[in-house]
Amino acid sequence: MSGTKSSSAQPTSSTLDAGAVSTLASRLRGRVFTPDVAGYDDARTIWNAMIDKHPAVIARCAGAADVRYAVGFAQEHGLQLAVRGGGHNIAGSALCDGGLVIDLSAMKSVRVDPARRVATVEPGVTLGEFDHDAQAFGLATPVGINSTTGIAGLTLGGGFGWLSRTYGMTVDNLRSADVVTVSGELVSASERENADLFWALRGGGGNFGIVTAFELGMHKVGPEVMAGLIVHPFADAEALLRRYRDVAAAMPNELSAWVVLRKAPPLPFLPAEVHGKEVVVIAVLYSGDMKDGERAIAPLRAIGKPIADVVSPHPYSGFQAAFDPLLAPGARNYWKTHNLARLGDEALDLLVDAARHLPGPQCEVFLAQMGGAVRDTPEEATAYSGRDADFIVNVHARWTDAGQDGECVGWARALFKDLAPHATGGAYVNFMTQDESERVRMAYGPHYARLAALKKKYDPANVLRVNQNINPA
Ligand SMILES: Cc1cc2nc3c(=O)[nH]c(=O)nc-3n(C[C@H](O)[C@H](O)[C@H](O)COP(=O)(O)OP(=O)(O)OC[C@H]3O[C@@H](n4cnc5c(N)ncnc54)[C@H](O)[C@@H]3O)c2cc1C
Repeated sequence: MSGTKSSSAQPTSSTLDAGAVSTLASRLRGRVFTPDVAGYDDARTIWNAMIDKHPAVIARCAGAADVRYAVGFAQEHGLQLAVRGGGHNIAGSALCDGGLVIDLSAMKSVRVDPARRVATVEPGVTLGEFDHDAQAFGLATPVGINSTTGIAGLTLGGGFGWLSRTYGMTVDNLRSADVVTVSGELVSASERENADLFWALRGGGGNFGIVTAFELGMHKVGPEVMAGLIVHPFADAEALLRRYRDVAAAMPNELSAWVVLRKAPPLPFLPAEVHGKEVVVIAVLYSGDMKDGERAIAPLRAIGKPIADVVSPHPYSGFQAAFDPLLAPGARNYWKTHNLARLGDEALDLLVDAARHLPGPQCEVFLAQMGGAVRDTPEEATAYSGRDADFIVNVHARWTDAGQDGECVGWARALFKDLAPHATGGAYVNFMTQDESERVRMAYGPHYARLAALKKKYDPANVLRVNQNINPA
């Protein structure tokens, strides 16, 4: 099946002799993995099991000095370069075949300044690690909904989650970044310094340099929030989704309600006869005061006759990991995404129809509610493009047996195609797969030309091209 599985070619390291590798190893404070070194296979394993790439060398950097050296080394030896944060990107862009991977996963420091409400975060930090440290001070920043995702890739593509309707995209909370450029300089990017680079980093992905620290603004959240799942039978799915749409349109910014259409996992609060049957799940989180949360969620609870309603006070950091068991690493995954300005009847019916034909128990249709504070930042203020979308729909094909590749990928592609006339044409770059290069321009939207000009300034030779790539103008 072309374009769905990355190459498993062996390293093409003919230009890279053992002497060069040992020089690299001696210069780094971190570790170097080549195919003959124990730990190499672990080091080339990422979240999506569809990705099976064999880098010639993996430089697990310990700090910005290592990153500077590794960037120079890759260019000196003509090696393709990939950059790994948390290794979650569905497209497998954390790795490359036969080149050098700058692996940032060991750079794990989080320094919280509670008085200024900012955190300085290294690029190997996962969302769960960030939430853990931030919540120790009663603070949080909008990040994604799966705790093993990396903060680095998520932030550079835009970043959103349960808190985004209240506090904006992750990039709206980014105060500054330390960046190693492809020429090996370490620069700071903020509204005051290298403001053009700072603009590009906030949504332009890993195209402009390698970020070695993110300074993120934070907000008072939790420690408990009103959150949970409302699970409905599938029989009324069309009507339920129409009611959801109307209720969602009138919700306060503190409340987010996402929809998942899937087969019910064997959760203890669901009756056994529902397990394995299609259900409509409304997942909610209210970020403000608990009592106000009860009131705000009431209209959602009044929709239909749920099978289960487990919305109650939950630790914020616990709810941030609530979906982890359904999104564990090691499965085969193929996703398709659209930005939707509104949920029209026809689009809703397409989602329900696709969910009637799920090719497996782990496949799902995911509807993330956007809007709210995401709209408070003007479209042109950051490179993230997509603030016009009230919803992002993700078609998650997920399975374990490679023999099912065709069926699962085909299911995702079919719904994606059917939904296209109902979508804005924009897309969230962080959800795009490896075979969507023709969509990249549309994904960066009206910002593409400015991004291409900045790419020419900061990476004229397109050294950083294993990503949703912006060609230098
Ligand atoms: C299960 C799951 C759930 C998700 N949920 C959400 C969600 O709720 N909200 C959301 O916004 N997104 C979500 N995402 C998408 C997520 O934002 C992207 O997968 C993102 O790329 C992950 O970042 P990473 O660092 O883990 O990825 P990696 O694969 O390590 O990196 C992705 C790319 O980012 C670039 N990059 C990484 N680190 C750096 C760096 N320090 N400097 C320069 N470039 C770098 C590189 O180009 C790299 O190829 C989810 C993904 C998964 C798999």
